[in-house]
Amino acid sequence: MRILLSNDDGIHAPGIRALYDAVKDLGDVFVVAPSVEQSAVGHAITVFDPIKCKRITKDGAFEGYAVGGTPADCIKLAVTEILDGPPDLVLSGINLGPNTGISVIYSGTVSAATEGTVLGIPSIAFSLDTFSEPRWDTAAAIARKIVIGSRENGIPDETLLNVNIPNLPLDEIKGCAVTLMGRSRWIEKFHKRNDPRGNHYFWLDGEMEQLDNSEGTDIRAVADGFVSITPIGLDLTRYEAVEELQKWEL
Ligand code: MN
Repeated sequence: MRILLSNDDGIHAPGIRALYDAVKDLGDVFVVAPSVEQSAVGHAITVFDPIKCKRITKDGAFEGYAVGGTPADCIKLAVTEILDGPPDLVLSGINLGPNTGISVIYSGTVSAATEGTVLGIPSIAFSLDTFSEPRWDTAAAIARKIVIGSRENGIPDETLLNVNIPNLPLDEIKGCAVTLMGRSRWIEKFHKRNDPRGNHYFWLDGEMEQLDNSEGTDIRAVADGFVSITPIGLDLTRYEAVEELQKWEL
């Protein structure tokens, strides 16, 4: 099995190292990841600038390509130029921080897996539900288990798996739950400051508000100690709205 790894925290982040160590004996593993952090860039791609690409060795742990672009750039570039043909599996992560609810839209981690899916390659995004004291050992063990499960069962066509892992000791994880994307949104807050020349600048901050964390959602599953596995599709059509719009007399 040929496995492509990427992420949005950058090739030097501990999460991709944990993911590499978790799957390195499951096949030929290739790492193509952003050279610097690209969190929250969503599915951005680079079209007006050249994309730099440098082969690096990461602390003797793995060799990979550091790409001066976005997570989606990394997957496109790896599949079409760097690798000798498409991989069998794309893995993204392990992200520091959850990607549940609306974060799926903003996430570069999820977008790397989305790009893999667009290219017809089974893809999985992994995120760890914490921003401090990450339990990479737990996340790596869970990621390995899910990769093996996906190899045995296959991932449905045009579907990526968005996996969120509670930041708990492995023996406190209650199991895996197949979930639906919950509803959440950012309560926006900009810090307004002045630069040395007296011009304003803004720095985005904010807080996540959960709008639907009911039973069966990704948000709830992770909060309850379950690994959340959400199947995500590429079709963003709101089917319930089609009939209503067809009534417009245009
Ligand atoms: Mn990130």
